[in-house]
Amino acid sequence: MSYCVNCGKELESGAKFCTNCGHPAIINQVQNTPQQTVVYVQAPQQDIYVHERKSKGLALTLCFFLGWMGAHEFYLRKYFWGSLYLIFCWTFIPLLLSIVDFILIFLTPKKIFHKMYDK
Ligand SMILES: [Zn+2]
Repeated sequence: MSYCVNCGKELESGAKFCTNCGHPAIINQVQNTPQQTVVYVQAPQQDIYVHERKSKGLALTLCFFLGWMGAHEFYLRKYFWGSLYLIFCWTFIPLLLSIVDFILIFLTPKKIFHKMYDK
């Protein structure tokens, strides 16, 4: 049984308006509880392989200061050469090579540098 929300008079079943005051009858019906939709907000898929950008400036800096021990070679993932530099650093040959490397890296256009060394 429902009652008028305005005046409280008992409403006839199926009545659209209250017969007493004319207030639209609000039919108390069991409202379907809106289905809760759980929205899983998907985190943007992260690249597993993080694009590693090598900095030309850092390569040059490493080459300038630590080139004699192959730091720039290690930085540019040339581990084999880096190891050779490290092993032979006492001969000063790596020092000379690092000067050449410095000039070469310096002269390499950024575009080509990144193409060569970026992952
Ligand atoms: Zn009423």
